[in-house]
Amino acid sequence: MKTKRAVIVQCRLSSSRLPGKALKLLGQKPVLAWVLASMKKVKADKYYVATDHESYEILKPICKENGFDCFAGDLNDVLKRFCDLIKTLKVETIIRATADNPFLFYEAAQASVEEFEERNKGRHPCDYLTYTGLPHGSGVEIFSAASLLKAAEQTDNPYDHEHVGPALYNHKESFKCEFIKAPARFNFPDLRTTIDTFSDYMRAISIVNFLKDNKQPYTTEQIIDACKSVQVNNPIVFVPSVVKGQGTGHLHRCLSAAVETKSFVYIPDDCTLAETSSIIDEYKEKGLCDWQIINELPDETYKSVIVTDNFKLSKNQAEQFSKCKKLISLDEGSDFSQYSDYLLDIIPSYDVTRLPNLFDTSYITKPLNVRKNVTANIEKVLVCIGGEDPAGLTLPASQALVKNLPGAQITAIVSDVEKYRNILNINFIPPVENLREKIFEYDLVVSHYGLTAFEAAFAGCAVIMVATTKLHEHLAQKYDFAYIPHGKIDSAKMQKALESPLLRPEIKMSLKQKSLGSYIQHLSFGEKLCCPVCREKSDVLQKDFRPDPIISRNAGRTYRRCRNCGIVYMAFTAEEEKQYKKSYFFEDYKKQYGKTYEEDFNSIKSQCTRRIQIMNALQDNQGGKNYLDIGCAYGPSLAAAAEQGLNPFGTDISEEAIHYVKSKLHFPASCSAFPKIDSQKEFGISKFDQVSMWYVIEHFKDLDSVLSKISELVKEGGIFAFATPSGEGISAKSDLDHFYSISPTDHFSIWEPSKAQKILKKYGFEVIKVVSTGHHPERFPVCKKENIQKGSVRWNMIDKYSRLMQLGDTVEIYCRKKAEK
Ligand SMILES: [Zn+2]
Repeated sequence: MKTKRAVIVQCRLSSSRLPGKALKLLGQKPVLAWVLASMKKVKADKYYVATDHESYEILKPICKENGFDCFAGDLNDVLKRFCDLIKTLKVETIIRATADNPFLFYEAAQASVEEFEERNKGRHPCDYLTYTGLPHGSGVEIFSAASLLKAAEQTDNPYDHEHVGPALYNHKESFKCEFIKAPARFNFPDLRTTIDTFSDYMRAISIVNFLKDNKQPYTTEQIIDACKSVQVNNPIVFVPSVVKGQGTGHLHRCLSAAVETKSFVYIPDDCTLAETSSIIDEYKEKGLCDWQIINELPDETYKSVIVTDNFKLSKNQAEQFSKCKKLISLDEGSDFSQYSDYLLDIIPSYDVTRLPNLFDTSYITKPLNVRKNVTANIEKVLVCIGGEDPAGLTLPASQALVKNLPGAQITAIVSDVEKYRNILNINFIPPVENLREKIFEYDLVVSHYGLTAFEAAFAGCAVIMVATTKLHEHLAQKYDFAYIPHGKIDSAKMQKALESPLLRPEIKMSLKQKSLGSYIQHLSFGEKLCCPVCREKSDVLQKDFRPDPIISRNAGRTYRRCRNCGIVYMAFTAEEEKQYKKSYFFEDYKKQYGKTYEEDFNSIKSQCTRRIQIMNALQDNQGGKNYLDIGCAYGPSLAAAAEQGLNPFGTDISEEAIHYVKSKLHFPASCSAFPKIDSQKEFGISKFDQVSMWYVIEHFKDLDSVLSKISELVKEGGIFAFATPSGEGISAKSDLDHFYSISPTDHFSIWEPSKAQKILKKYGFEVIKVVSTGHHPERFPVCKKENIQKGSVRWNMIDKYSRLMQLGDTVEIYCRKKAEK
């Protein structure tokens, strides 16, 4: 009986971009084994791998294991290789796959081969068929064996010979080729599953990690789920310092967090830290996998989360990491920290001039061994001033201790014990493995400002910090450590430190150990945002890319000011996204304002009446009365507008709110997510005389489309007005970081009245009136400081001052649509 179908997987080991990719490990097996396992699910009579002579012996065992035969043919003329194989097979239909696609949709392959055969039985035969719209790397080609042999004879085009399909589909005059849009369940043209580059390989690893122990080969739905997941789209890559002289702490911290989160760790081939491979081996025993260590970083096509723990970012690294990627930096001490989307300081930073998003020493791994009894006597002392100790402080510190503590046993850690062979009374030892768990044995630890000092304090030891710079002196003071000032160490200075009441530090932090890995994971789900007005700037991919300057950082968010338009925007957020469900207007509102939205309806309405009177007065008198309120909620503004003689229309994202406006207030309203609204279709009106947005504008991530749409919706001479929190009110002016830390997590832009004109001009508006609202004398620092009572003369003066200087915490901006030139 003549066999009908053959699956042929094309494979070679000499790939220019990623050599040997078919043999690279993915989970427990090579990439090729994944390909073969999924193609084995397609019903066929023969299963072959077509390779070249050089790769044959290497691939044969993998083929055998997966039920495939192996065929060796021409290395470069792949078409010839296929034809030579086909001639030996006596089959009708070929299903062709390539070995760089471990996540083939075998169900789609099965469906397409059936469709091909169906067509050839009926009245619309074809030579070649493939589905379009599958993820890049999940599809196969189906063609007739006889047609391919014929096509090969007819072409000597090198491209046709190097590839296989083109011999047919680039010659449509001779062959009928069908490109069929794949059924919806397979149609995901924006996804990518192929392995062409190193970044692709990292993505494939992430897919396997995400799907873990699911039955293999994975189904279409599983692969799509994985491809869409945050974990696969934002893999975490730790970049620890592996530079000689910077200690091993960075590498330990990153490896430990990587084991916990199954993340990648970047170790460049030229790393100079001698202990690197032995430390990596240590973590392999704790569950670190081989694939986690990478020597190449993902390219700009793969939006990973880079976590740097390398002491100081170089300008190059800062640029490279922050472009297109989320950059989280631990204890970052360079001048380029503004590139980082998030700064986490665990051991207080070397650079005190900038504030981190979060400073939290509870991520330091605390020793399990702690001192039980704290005695006043100091008998055992450890001096540990970094392995390298470039300033040479170990010896003077140890000698000063000998003088001050006669009889005490002084031990000093140095990298070169031989060098100190002739020095008496001090026990010099080489670096101690797992010092953290041994440090409790010492009554006193003398160290520079770093991890060891904190670990010693956690273990209950007395601690003296040796300030290696003026800055460290300042930090030691700030965090209440006994210290020796920057400069020469002598016995008098040591004595003073030993007498300090801060010798036994009371570390004011929760003793609970927090997991760095899970916090990094939480941050990796965060969102990086660009300027809502200018959107992605064209210079992002250019060489001298500079991030927008930082305005404020807090535990959940980072704010920047757009260099181009001047708006302050949320540039990174690790907060959960808010959904505008019913709860927003009821529960959340009550939480924030202490009364329900409905209870507040009339007071909001009276504010709206005042605003609409201003708009009426500002509108160029053309007599038009159509008024649109965007984000109208339950309609207080629409009710006010109707009373002021306007024809109100409303739009809101909340179905409940729109239902209320239509059924209770009887105003025309549309439920839609602005700017997605066709007002002509919804209301029969394409341009309005007045458009408003009350406390809505700050909620958009894409303000550009919002303002463009509003510009379209407002008639020439018509008014657009909005109210929003003010970035120039007393709260922002008196404590900027506090203002931004309490700014609601769904406010993506913060408007400053002085910058509004420039932004709105782009959209054809001219600001004609600014009303400062939300005056709160109690928020003035002087009021808090001097306890000025509400209603007093001074209170009233501050209130007047606030109004005069426009220091209200909210602002209304009224602008007029200019005539188009
Ligand atoms: Zn901008």
